[in-house]
Amino acid sequence: MLQAVSVVHRGLFHSCAGLSVRMSSTGINPKGLLANRVAVVTGSTEGIGFAIARCLAQDKAHVVVSSRKQQNVDLAVATLQGEGLSVTGTVCHVGKAEDREWLVAKVLEHHGGLDFLVCNAAVNILVGGTLKASEEVWDKILNMNVKSPALLLSQLLPHIENRGMRAVILVSSIAAYVPQAKLGVYNISKTAMLGLTRMLSLELAPKDIRVNCLVPGVIETRFSQVLHKDEAAESEIPDMCSVLLHMLGQPEDCAGIVSFLCSPDASYITGESFVVTGFSPRL
Ligand code: NAP
Repeated sequence: MLQAVSVVHRGLFHSCAGLSVRMSSTGINPKGLLANRVAVVTGSTEGIGFAIARCLAQDKAHVVVSSRKQQNVDLAVATLQGEGLSVTGTVCHVGKAEDREWLVAKVLEHHGGLDFLVCNAAVNILVGGTLKASEEVWDKILNMNVKSPALLLSQLLPHIENRGMRAVILVSSIAAYVPQAKLGVYNISKTAMLGLTRMLSLELAPKDIRVNCLVPGVIETRFSQVLHKDEAAESEIPDMCSVLLHMLGQPEDCAGIVSFLCSPDASYITGESFVVTGFSPRL
């Protein structure tokens, strides 16, 4: 009995890893919260995207993983299928229109539609000050980080199923609130994601599609190596996040919240941003 109560309680806050059970009048629902739903996660062969893909699949969604490199897609799919999860994969460089079209075609071919889109892929070019950034750098970062999630969503929108739970999650960064000098234009692209979340939530509310935003702090991945690769770099992290918990988050720390935001428990939440930083200086 105690065990069942603890599982239900934990499931409210961290619904992956087999914790996504809910009591029903007949007892514990053995199915995951996201059973028979289809989720597409961009940039999901490692790091935060991979953890999100795994968590959604553990909650019984069918997940389509993707990234730029076929060998990474193959490895991620093999790893997750090896864990008994329902996962397919395809190459998709989110900045390339033809790759986005290919992703849409593959989703339709394998699943006929989708319920959840997680726009996680992004580029991070260390350029320092924004005024020193070339036009090429501006275009690359804004195209990849801001434009491509919106374009991918518009391509997938006609195929987002009307099955009562439809959600889009954009991925921003704590740099949106606390800009880092060395991250330059990237800070701005991630602030734009907060605006994109608000705008899309407004536009898609009439269609009953919720749009929310994940805002990670410094999470230990290849992407953030520049922020934690040595002691000097790591010493700057507290300025960024005012970390109260351990210094670096893990990709899995960002995953349960995404499952929650896709689930019926979040059915009255849209246009919001969720900070996962071990404490942040923002109100
Ligand atoms: P990561 O560990 O480097 O993983 C990046 C993933 O995206 C890989 O699967 C990579 O695979 C794929 N990818 C890279 N470029 C892509 C593209 N153009 N199109 C499609 N897929 C692409 O990165 P991460 O740290 O998990 O970061 C993920 C997201 O979290 C980003 O939006 C980032 O801005 C945000 N974020 C991260 C941190 C952090 O501290 N890590 C903090 C705040 C926000 P391929 O190489 O095969 O393409």
